[in-house]
Amino acid sequence: MKYSSCFSKTSKTPPTDADSANAKFLIQAGFVDQTMAGVYTWLPFGLAVLRKVEQIVREEMNALGALEIFMPSLHPKEFWEATNRWDNVDILFKIKSQTEKDYALGASHEEVVTPLAKKFLESYKDLPFATYQINTKFRDELRAKSGVLRGREFRMKDMYSFHTTQEDLTAFYQKTLHAYVRAYNRCGLNVKVVEASGGIFTKNPSHEFQALTDAGEDTILACDKCEFGQNSEVATLKEGDACPTCGGVLSIVKGIEVGNIFDLGTKYSDAFDLNFTDENGDRKRVLMGCYGIGTSRLVGSIVEASHDDRGMIWPKSIAPFQVHFITLNSKDDAVRENIMGTADDLVRELESNGIEVLWDDRADVSPGAKFADADLIGIPLRILISEKSLKEDSVEWKERTGTESRLVKLTDLVEEAMQFVKE
Ligand code: ATP
Ligand code: MG
Repeated sequence: MKYSSCFSKTSKTPPTDADSANAKFLIQAGFVDQTMAGVYTWLPFGLAVLRKVEQIVREEMNALGALEIFMPSLHPKEFWEATNRWDNVDILFKIKSQTEKDYALGASHEEVVTPLAKKFLESYKDLPFATYQINTKFRDELRAKSGVLRGREFRMKDMYSFHTTQEDLTAFYQKTLHAYVRAYNRCGLNVKVVEASGGIFTKNPSHEFQALTDAGEDTILACDKCEFGQNSEVATLKEGDACPTCGGVLSIVKGIEVGNIFDLGTKYSDAFDLNFTDENGDRKRVLMGCYGIGTSRLVGSIVEASHDDRGMIWPKSIAPFQVHFITLNSKDDAVRENIMGTADDLVRELESNGIEVLWDDRADVSPGAKFADADLIGIPLRILISEKSLKEDSVEWKERTGTESRLVKLTDLVEEAMQFVKE
C-alpha cells in the first residue's frame, strides 16, 4: 500500500488526553480514531492488526474443533430475564423500540447461545460440541478508559462448549486453557494464567489470562519463571514465596485481563431448561463452559507491552505490514525516477512473494519526518532507498528493534526479507 493513498495519516503530536501508551500511539499513528469515550473506529492499519489477532484466535479455536458462528447483538429482553440478568447486570445496555419493546445489546452471549443449542440438541449423541464467534460487545462501563483496553463497544471472541459429563467438560476446559496460552504467544504476548476462583477442582472454576504491564488494572501474584499466577486479593501465597508449580519466585505485578474462561456447570442450562437424553433414556442437564478473549483489548495490551518512547513495536505475526518501505526524494529528475522505478520493482517483487509492504512514497515530506513515522507505526523492518544507497546498488535495512542500519544489495533484498519474515 502506498502511504499517499491512505486517508488515515499519522499526526505530529500525540492526543492531549491520552491516558495510556496504547491510546497515545494507536491514535497518533492513525490506527484508531475515538468517536466518543470508549468507542473507536478501527482505521486501515489498526484493522489490519485486529484482523491478524482475530485470525490467530480463530485458528486456535478451530484447532479445538469448535465451529464458528455469528450471533446477533440485539437480544430479546425475555432471554436476559430468564437468567435473572436483565435487572442484575449493571453494564447491560438496554434499548426501547418505537413500539415500546425492550432489547438488550449483547454484553455476552450465553443468553443467545443456550436457547440456540436447545433447538439442535436432543440426545447424548449430539454432545459434546463447541461453538464460537468473534463479534462486537456492548457494555455500559461506568468509566471507559485506557484507550482500547476498556471500551463501551469492543471486540471479543466468545466460545461456548456443551457436555454430558464433568470429566468431559474439564478435559475440554484444560485443552482450551492451553490453546489460549498458544494464541497469546503467537500474538507475541506472554501471559500469566490466574486461578480466579480457587482452581480447577473447586465448583465452577475459572481462570483469567493476564498480560503483565504497568498499565494493568489488576494486581496479581506471578511467577518469574512459569505461567503461574494468583489473584492477589484471594491469594493464599505471598510475595517472595516459591511458585507451587515450578519453584520460581512469586512477586506482585500489574496485569491486564486479556481473557477469561469459566466452567459454568448448569447455570445457563438450568435457566433455559437445556437437557439431553442419556444412554438409558433419562433426561439430564447439559454442562457448559464459556471462554472469552477480548481481541481489541489484546491489541491494546500488545502496545502496552511492546513500545518505546518513539512508538509501537509490532511483533511480526500481527504487524499491519512486514516492511515499511521509504523512498527519499531528489531534486534531480533522473535520480528521482531511478529511486521511484527501483522502489516500484522491489515493492512489487516483495508483494508477489507474500510480503505486505507499506510504501512511504510521499514526495513533500522530509527524511526525518518519514523516519519518525516509521518508528511511530512500528512495522518490524524499515527499508530505505535513497540516492546514496543506490550508488552502492543497495537499500538501507533497519529493524524496528535494532539501533544500527546496514546496506543490503538490491539483488539480495527479497530473499533476505523473506528470511526475516519467517524467523
Ligand atoms: P473486566 O474485569 O476487565 O471488566 P470482565 O471480567 O468483565 O472484564 P469478561 O466478561 O470476562 O470481562 O469478558 C471476557 C474478556 O473481554 C475479558 O477478559 C477482556 O479481555 C475483554 N473485555 C471485557 N470488558 C472489556 C471492555 N470494556 N473493553 C475491552 N475489552 C473488554
Ligand atoms: Mg473476566
